[in-house]
Amino acid sequence: MSSKTYDVIIVGAGIVGSACAAECARVGLSVAIVEAEIIGGGATAAGMGHVVVMDDSEAQFALTRYSQQLWNEMGDELPREVEHDACGTIWIAADDDEMAEALRKRKFYSDRGVQTEILDAQSLAEAEPNLRPGLAGGLRVPGDSVIYPPCAAQFFVDQAMAKGADLFLGKSVGAVTADGVRLRDGTSLPAGIIVNSAGSWSPVLTPGLDVKKRKGHLVITDRYPKFLRHQLVELGYLKSAHSVSADSVAFNIQPRRTGQLLIGSSRQYGVDDSQVDMPMLARMLERATEYLPGLRKLSSLRTWTGFRAATPDKLPLIGPHLEHKRLYLATGHEGLGITTSLGTAKLLVAQIMNHATTISVAPYLPSRLAQEPAHA
Ligand SMILES: Cc1cc2nc3c(=O)[nH]c(=O)nc-3n(C[C@H](O)[C@H](O)[C@H](O)COP(=O)(O)OP(=O)(O)OC[C@H]3O[C@@H](n4cnc5c(N)ncnc54)[C@H](O)[C@@H]3O)c2cc1C
Repeated sequence: MSSKTYDVIIVGAGIVGSACAAECARVGLSVAIVEAEIIGGGATAAGMGHVVVMDDSEAQFALTRYSQQLWNEMGDELPREVEHDACGTIWIAADDDEMAEALRKRKFYSDRGVQTEILDAQSLAEAEPNLRPGLAGGLRVPGDSVIYPPCAAQFFVDQAMAKGADLFLGKSVGAVTADGVRLRDGTSLPAGIIVNSAGSWSPVLTPGLDVKKRKGHLVITDRYPKFLRHQLVELGYLKSAHSVSADSVAFNIQPRRTGQLLIGSSRQYGVDDSQVDMPMLARMLERATEYLPGLRKLSSLRTWTGFRAATPDKLPLIGPHLEHKRLYLATGHEGLGITTSLGTAKLLVAQIMNHATTISVAPYLPSRLAQEPAHA
């Protein structure tokens, strides 16, 4: 039994838990961070690091927009290794139907104050000369950016520790108890509040959570510094990423500060093993080369997979658990947890401290989903 009682114990130091820890410490709470493996080593290490405003729903827009603003405000403060790059996104329209979608998206964004620019076929080709000819155009969102997520998680943990947080690294939480957590080594850590920010492992700690794994593949190339200028995403991505059951691939590519290109992405449900799935990888790369034929000549260095933590309505769970009085959730961020980590931290801590929030917290409250009784 630890002699210290913490205000808050954060379980999991991915980007979400780390951001929550930094925010808790910033407002003066005493914090313990418990991480079973390494900081930012889960989905955070597997993710792409695209900080992107999305418009799948008003609630998704509100959280991504708020979070993007927080990232951009933090820009100068972020250490070099976080590789914050304000490269912007271009949503690629392959044909007239997708151009209509680009125009719809532009209206949605500009009605809500997000700067965008419609590119016709020629200006798209000028912006990204390696794209294949014959594309209809695109939508540029200059406020989007790219970061290197594991280093951002480390930076947030460092910030929390500079304000007095304790880090329990290599320690796994076995159970949330009536007055804190019990580690798998038998140690009890007492706390007023426990935050389950264990990503795709969160249902292991809190049975009954409707959070499922959604597998993704990524490939990183050697260094080709002039090949790409923006994060490019096909507008067809919206069709495939929205399915909550079928496997899908979509063209999504990112220029890294190192000159490398990070190529995505795939989505698979009901797959637990982390092996690279060769047919899925082949489909994903085929899609990418349809847009950027020159990719065929480039060398890839590494391929990996990761698991997104998906909820049924594709919004994260941020706030108190329905039954366990001391337990808060900060999980279920699916493919947007790098972006939404900062907004999540603000919304979580506002609820803990009973402070007003900048955006409504209602769409993200765990109470919106029926929870089965926990047997832990
Ligand atoms: C292929 C792919 C591409 C993606 N691209 C993007 C993108 O471009 N932009 C974007 O915004 N998001 C993206 N995402 C999503 C993003 O990566 C995740 O939403 C985000 O990393 C989730 O962070 P997390 O902190 O919730 O979870 P994780 O990073 O998985 O962290 C959870 C941590 O909890 C620890 N843990 C688990 N159980 C315990 C326990 N019992 N005790 C102690 N510690 C425990 C784990 O070791 C882990 O470190 C992508 C994801 C994937 C898979």
